[in-house]
Amino acid sequence: MRTAIIAGNWKMNKTIKEGLEFIEGIKGKTEGNAEVLICAPFTLLKDLKEATKGTNIKIGAQNMHYENSGAFTGEVAAANLVELEMDYVIIGHSERRQYFNETDESCNKKVLKAIEVGINPILCCGETLEEREANKTIEKVKGQIEKGLANVDSKDIEKVVIAYEPIWAIGTGKTATAEQANEVISEIRNVVRAMFGDLADKVRIQYGGSVKPANVAEIMGQSDIDGALVGGASLKAEDFLGLLKF
Ligand code: PEP
Repeated sequence: MRTAIIAGNWKMNKTIKEGLEFIEGIKGKTEGNAEVLICAPFTLLKDLKEATKGTNIKIGAQNMHYENSGAFTGEVAAANLVELEMDYVIIGHSERRQYFNETDESCNKKVLKAIEVGINPILCCGETLEEREANKTIEKVKGQIEKGLANVDSKDIEKVVIAYEPIWAIGTGKTATAEQANEVISEIRNVVRAMFGDLADKVRIQYGGSVKPANVAEIMGQSDIDGALVGGASLKAEDFLGLLKF
């Protein structure tokens, strides 16, 4: 049995004050069947971690570097996230791949580093609209997963969460149908199975792309979908609480 994971990705939104107000708005209301996670900008993480102590709300980062330290101006090391007791880190979100030149190879190094330091990586994958229309969806995500999970030790694969996020559905209001999402996620699980055998049944695979309270139940009702990674609808406390009702 896989525990569902509902994760908010705040992207480059919210000040510390706004983040703490959000936490006040959801505190005491998040208990349920799902693991609950907020991935916030770096400068909010310490305060959010403190504000959520004693609750079931976990806090994660949206990126980190794969080197331990050094001349990487503007970057944040895994050790910095460990210091803040981060539970998760998003790796290879499509916006980072698109605007910050992240590659499957750099994502793989980050996944390995996160595991090494004890932070659970959420590895993102997904196709563009052109790739979907050219029937290249499976080929694309297969490559991203095979390269992103290369050299992960079998004993660690359960720590990895995969987020399938079709790029054309992110922030556009266009959601993949629940069936479309489930179909690709089943294929992703097959890729993980080819790499790690039956341990694939323990790996949680989320869907992301315009998930909101109105469609979360349908998405979560699919056999292979183990959670959601949510941008827009994770920004308001009320909406976020709605995502936990499925
Ligand atoms: C995301 O940023 O991961 C995402 C899925 O965004 P949205 O929910 O706004 O489509």
